[in-house]
Amino acid sequence: MSPIPDPQALAALVPTGDRRALARAITLIESSRPDHRPAAEALLEALLPHAGGAIRLGITGVPGVGKSTFIEAFGLHVIGQGHRVAVLAVDPSSPISGGSILGDKTRMEELSRDQRAFIRPSPSGRTLGGVARRTREAMLVCEAAGFDVVIVETVGVGQSETAVADMVDMFLLLLAPGAGDELQGIKKGIVELADAIVVNKADGDLAAAADRAMRDYRNALHLLRPASPHWRPPVLRCSAATGAGIDEVWATIRSYRHLMGEAGAIAERRARQALAWMWSEISQSLIETFRAHPDARDLLPELERAVARGEIAPAAAARRLIRAFLTA
Ligand code: GDP
Repeated sequence: MSPIPDPQALAALVPTGDRRALARAITLIESSRPDHRPAAEALLEALLPHAGGAIRLGITGVPGVGKSTFIEAFGLHVIGQGHRVAVLAVDPSSPISGGSILGDKTRMEELSRDQRAFIRPSPSGRTLGGVARRTREAMLVCEAAGFDVVIVETVGVGQSETAVADMVDMFLLLLAPGAGDELQGIKKGIVELADAIVVNKADGDLAAAADRAMRDYRNALHLLRPASPHWRPPVLRCSAATGAGIDEVWATIRSYRHLMGEAGAIAERRARQALAWMWSEISQSLIETFRAHPDARDLLPELERAVARGEIAPAAAARRLIRAFLTA
């Protein structure tokens, strides 16, 4: 087994911009070895005073909508404005997808070669909770390393959008023209999470369809109650392929940060997220402790069988297990 990295040494190097230290710090955080966890936590605690300085962006959209093309064009634009961009991904690997959405090295080729950018493939993991926890922590490490724009990408299927919206300041939904059908395919809940909608591929033959899509989404958004009194989610368009409209997306993000920042709404959102995170850590570690407890472990198979057969009520079984756990 490899030795456990020294968290204090890493914590001293990460804020200097040492990329190897940054990569090693994230690897430590992503490690599933229980004996790595105390070091990972010590590292995070030491880095926390350096974190928090970035605008945290979530980007979602169904596969093929142009997320990686967009992030490449957007990232290069933002770097050109003097910023440093980190890109992380949330993609709980399933046996079907086989995992990492950023794993493909050819994605975001130019951005990934730039020293002012840092691209990290999605951590492997079976549960969304586990993957989201590591992504949140990796985000803090990137901030401590001086990245002032952090993008968390998620593939637009399932629960991961909510997890990402819960860890960022602003959530962008990327859509493609062909709205009528698209709107059907995108879950309503996801549109509600969006702080801005960006219609991508507004170029060539698709330009007219993009205009129609913008109108449709504006109408759709009008029917929703805005999540914040300080911000009405706009519908923008761009072409990640030609770069048209990318500057407006960035201008919108800056204006969001300004308006919401002034109103205290970003600080409020982060405070709420931090509390929700704490509670999710509490439930996760309580469940882990419970499952590892000898008495609960002994009783569990038998009670699970009985519940499945309908011989005992689920609530009664849960009470017995918890009693065994608490009274031991
Ligand atoms: P992802 O799966 O969401 O990451 O999508 P990709 O970035 O891989 O893009 C999917 C396809 O759409 C690729 O063939 C891209 O070249 C194409 N694409 C992406 N952005 C644009 C755009 O702005 N205009 C056009 N015409 N095609 C685009």
